[in-house]
Amino acid sequence: MGGLLAARALSGHFERITVVERDLLPSGETVRKGVPQSAHAHGLLASGYRVMDDYFPGMMDELEAAGAPRGDVVGDFLWFQYGRWKLRHRSGLRGITVSRPCLEAAVRRRVKAIPNVTFLEGADGVRPTFDAAAGRVTGLVVRSRDRSVETTLEADLVVDASGRGSLSPKWLEELGCGRPEEVSVKVNVGYATRTFVRQPGDFFSAMGGIVSGTPPESTRYAAVLAAEADRWVVTLVGALGDYPPTDEKAWAAFAATLPVSAVHELVTSARPLTDIVTYRFPANQRRLYERMRRFPSGYLVTGDAICSFNPIYGQGMSVAATEAKALDDSLAPGLDGLSQRFHVRARKIVDIPWAIATGEDLRFPQVEGRRPPGFHLVNRYLERVHAVASEDPVVCRKFFDVLNLLASPSSLLSPVVAWRVLARSAPKGIGSPLGKTRPEPASSTPG
Ligand SMILES: Cc1cc2nc3c(=O)[nH]c(=O)nc-3n(C[C@H](O)[C@H](O)[C@H](O)COP(=O)(O)OP(=O)(O)OC[C@H]3O[C@@H](n4cnc5c(N)ncnc54)[C@H](O)[C@@H]3O)c2cc1C
Repeated sequence: MGGLLAARALSGHFERITVVERDLLPSGETVRKGVPQSAHAHGLLASGYRVMDDYFPGMMDELEAAGAPRGDVVGDFLWFQYGRWKLRHRSGLRGITVSRPCLEAAVRRRVKAIPNVTFLEGADGVRPTFDAAAGRVTGLVVRSRDRSVETTLEADLVVDASGRGSLSPKWLEELGCGRPEEVSVKVNVGYATRTFVRQPGDFFSAMGGIVSGTPPESTRYAAVLAAEADRWVVTLVGALGDYPPTDEKAWAAFAATLPVSAVHELVTSARPLTDIVTYRFPANQRRLYERMRRFPSGYLVTGDAICSFNPIYGQGMSVAATEAKALDDSLAPGLDGLSQRFHVRARKIVDIPWAIATGEDLRFPQVEGRRPPGFHLVNRYLERVHAVASEDPVVCRKFFDVLNLLASPSSLLSPVVAWRVLARSAPKGIGSPLGKTRPEPASSTPG
């Protein structure tokens, strides 16, 4: 996804762009080897939706026509966090729920249709070529999958969008630039996902929902995302090694331990379409390319290759999209100083989702990492934000602006928000999933 979006961004600035992809790309919407996480729930935040909608006009209409629900990410989606349902209301934050393979295929079709973009499939990027005297990368060595052919693609710019397993740290070291500093926060998250038939009247109507246990007491979460072709993608998640099981009954029993019963009711009543598939995610991982003292020109890194976040916060694709936009903007003054310009902007883009993801993860005392001064105080304030956001539309909207990476977490401390958060007495009970949007179907179970 990071590579496709970068190609779209570059297409307005270069004569020819080649997307080098290790996999042979499917024509349809299947989970492929290079992106095994595709089988699991992939939420697109409002920030990512905006970039993609802007880059690919008509794509969201096409996805909606294929049955992917489009709507308001607060009004048409159910959020259960910190022991309460968030207030359901029209926030104006637009989004779509769709399976990752379907979204990726739609983006790929559009990028393939750009006249100056070509795809080299079934080819491994092996290493960049380097002009040491000029201090610049001059191309990429690529090798066919059967290892029979190795060639060099000459290029003015090489973008590494090869994901979390990126070899850029090793390549840069080999070029004599050293390695980027790396920060990681271990979380040992396990995903287990199954797809079901979606029917009108299901509790998670419209776009689906998130049900989270409250950290640090609970390490469990569920994402129920409506997808195209009348499907639910249901992902159960456990952190700190509390992995959801793969046996059907035990998997459903894991769902029964969530703080509301709605997910368990869905997975024990809806018709399954697939087996249960799993994924393990060890740690948030960030590489600080912007801090490197020596960095070759003609080269940069984007997407998960810079930073991969605990996926339960659903940030990666939206961050990759925002970085693509930043790349587009960083190219306006030309190629001179591009890598530094882009990596500094990428740092600012990554800072916020990194703070959100690791800030939540560090609530678990078992998670190792430096807690900033005032960490516990801020957490107590944020717990109040969660509570008040189940009743107060202003606080709820600001909370979702932050969650969707459209505002900085510090905006939750603005006087107008802080007053509403601190002056209101903490609401009792678990709140209501019904909200002000519209009545739920009669079969709804508030949990
Ligand atoms: C379990 C899980 C759930 C997630 N859920 C969400 C979610 O809900 N919302 C969200 O926004 N994000 C989510 N993410 C993150 C999201 O998948 C990524 O952030 C997003 O795909 C952007 O990553 P990328 O394109 O940089 O890398 P990737 O998606 O990993 O893609 C890398 C690509 O590079 C190719 N490749 C790798 N090495 C080479 C090479 N040497 N030569 C040629 N090709 C190569 C691979 O085949 C692949 O196509 C989730 C991640 C995981 C693990």
